[in-house]
Amino acid sequence: MHPLVASPDRRRGGRRRSLRRLNLALALRCIADDDGFVSRADISARTALNKSTSSSLVDELIAGGLVRELGVTTRPSVGRPPTSLALVTHGPAGLGIEVNVDYVAACVVDLTGAVRYQHVVSRDQRGRSPEEVLRLAARLGGAAVRAVRQSGLVPFGVAIAIPGMVDANAKKIILAPNLGWSDLDPAALLDPAELGLPQGLDVFVDNEANFAALSERELLLTGTSYLYVFGEIGVGSGIVLGGNLYRGRNGWSGEIGHLTVERAGLPCGCGGRGCLEQYAGQEAILRASGVRTAVGTSLGVGPTATLIRERAERGDTSMLVALERAGRALGVVIGNTMNLLDIDRVVLGGIYKELSDHLLPTIREEVTTRWAGARWSSPRIEAAVHGAEAPALGAARSVVRRVVDDPACWLGSDAAHRSSTGGTPRTPSGFEAAADPQPH
Ligand SMILES: [Zn+2]
Repeated sequence: MHPLVASPDRRRGGRRRSLRRLNLALALRCIADDDGFVSRADISARTALNKSTSSSLVDELIAGGLVRELGVTTRPSVGRPPTSLALVTHGPAGLGIEVNVDYVAACVVDLTGAVRYQHVVSRDQRGRSPEEVLRLAARLGGAAVRAVRQSGLVPFGVAIAIPGMVDANAKKIILAPNLGWSDLDPAALLDPAELGLPQGLDVFVDNEANFAALSERELLLTGTSYLYVFGEIGVGSGIVLGGNLYRGRNGWSGEIGHLTVERAGLPCGCGGRGCLEQYAGQEAILRASGVRTAVGTSLGVGPTATLIRERAERGDTSMLVALERAGRALGVVIGNTMNLLDIDRVVLGGIYKELSDHLLPTIREEVTTRWAGARWSSPRIEAAVHGAEAPALGAARSVVRRVVDDPACWLGSDAAHRSSTGGTPRTPSGFEAAADPQPH
């Protein structure tokens, strides 16, 4: 037989392996969705897999260090009481790093998505080379990896959030104007030794607004469709449809900051005119209110969002007018986008979270007059759960989500071998395991 033509036996073996892989993902998804309240019998009932198959899948997930048995459930049942299952809080972890204009942030989450480590270093990146900035990012990531190893966590991959256009499939930065970067492969500049992670570790790259959108865990778990609007120097958005990020053909979806608010309006850095960013971006709000600051000051570790809020709370008329204008522009664009996508949920992140008390009434008013669904229901437009930490957090959660979506990728990885097996945390000698943190 030709060596490239698989024998029928080999084809059947391949199909069995891929079916097993899909079933492992199905079983783990059941446990992740109902963490601590699901038994083997529940998995069998929900997936229509027979009891012995679902039980053997669970055994494999336990042996692979992804699932733990919590003990007997308290639910009434016939026969032997079922054992409830939950995701482990040691073993696979996700490392998220955000590189922004004036800070670098790192975050580690465990398989449940709970935050186990967070740290931010303030430093103006403008004028520094990508090599220098990514060296700092690797050092910060390395400190995070060392810290969480004490709790038996092993990062499975690292995801980097960038303020700019990214080719997520090629894992390349196309253009990050505020950092002055273009055509860059960040994975090639990240030193695995500095990160404390093995060579060839998966590095994922995406736009900060996309990752920030993934920080909204409750909405993601329920499969809700929503628009996540992320405001800072620029204005971006993440479009989540049915619990999945919609990236578009090139991964450039969600560039809401460059939707037109006024056809012949203010010129924009993108080459267009009247873009939302020129009315509702952080710089635009400051400019319109007459506040002079260094251009490019970012949020979170900087005082900008707080400065805007405090001025508004003091009744500074020019700031209130600037926020009113920003809210109107946001409302127009959000209302139009809701019509386009047929969604009724909007989350305001970045500086908009801190400014939500001032922006929400105006945004809701504009949306109500524009959104087609307003005749039948009220739109749900709310502040995000997380503030400036959202991109690094969402990046970290995107890594562990890959494990939940395809547990076979962890089960066969080097990281799994370095981690604990059999559901028992392995604590490096000389360290005490940290207490399980509360989910964030
Ligand atoms: Zn523009």
